[in-house]
Amino acid sequence: AVTVFTLQIADDWPGYKLELFTYPEHYREDVESVYIPHGVIMNRIECLARDILEDMGHENLMVLCVLKGGYKFCADLVDYIKAQSRSSVRPITTRMEFIRLRSYLNDRSTEDLQIIGPEDLSMLKGKALTLKAIVDTGKTMKMLLQHVQNFQPKRVKVAGLLVKRIPSSATILPDYVGFVIPNRFVVGYALDYNEYFRDLNHICLISETGKLKYKL
Ligand code: 5GP
Repeated sequence: AVTVFTLQIADDWPGYKLELFTYPEHYREDVESVYIPHGVIMNRIECLARDILEDMGHENLMVLCVLKGGYKFCADLVDYIKAQSRSSVRPITTRMEFIRLRSYLNDRSTEDLQIIGPEDLSMLKGKALTLKAIVDTGKTMKMLLQHVQNFQPKRVKVAGLLVKRIPSSATILPDYVGFVIPNRFVVGYALDYNEYFRDLNHICLISETGKLKYKL
């Protein structure tokens, strides 16, 4: 039997003190702590790449990246997949498509979800790997999967870098999960708060000052 490991971040994990890491000076007051350092994120993604190649690596991969929050995760994961695939006996081709979804205002999820992107995703036929940076209630992921099914892919797998540990998200989980985190609002590594913090490499907890400063 295959043992599936999950990386759980405990409810009482406060994060590392900011001073222990480098970060953009302009966010000094705006983040509380370094919740997941960039180096840890990268190594975890390298592991996900290995797992994905083990499962899906015998055929070419069509990768669907969910923007904007997923762009770093996608770029780094695909880089690791390529690197590991190059050194394997049977290298695979990866192709990419991008889609954009919007549902958040400030730090709250809103009801209306919009899909912005190419009408025709028929290149997803074959094996599709959908990449999302974060799964909160799972609403977005469900809708995305329905959308992807319209294009009749042979097989669909979902990778999520972060999954929030909340009861309502238990229905469908991504096939590959980077970190399971408490229900707290995080920013950085392309995850934003009203378009700010995407330029932060670590995943951080936003401070009250930060929330007020960039509120719409
Ligand atoms: P869901 O549909 O799973 O509730 O929401 C997923 C979307 O909400 C994500 O794609 C992301 O855009 C946004 N989101 C949820 N939680 C967070 C968070 O902690 N930080 C940020 N920056 N975005 C979040």
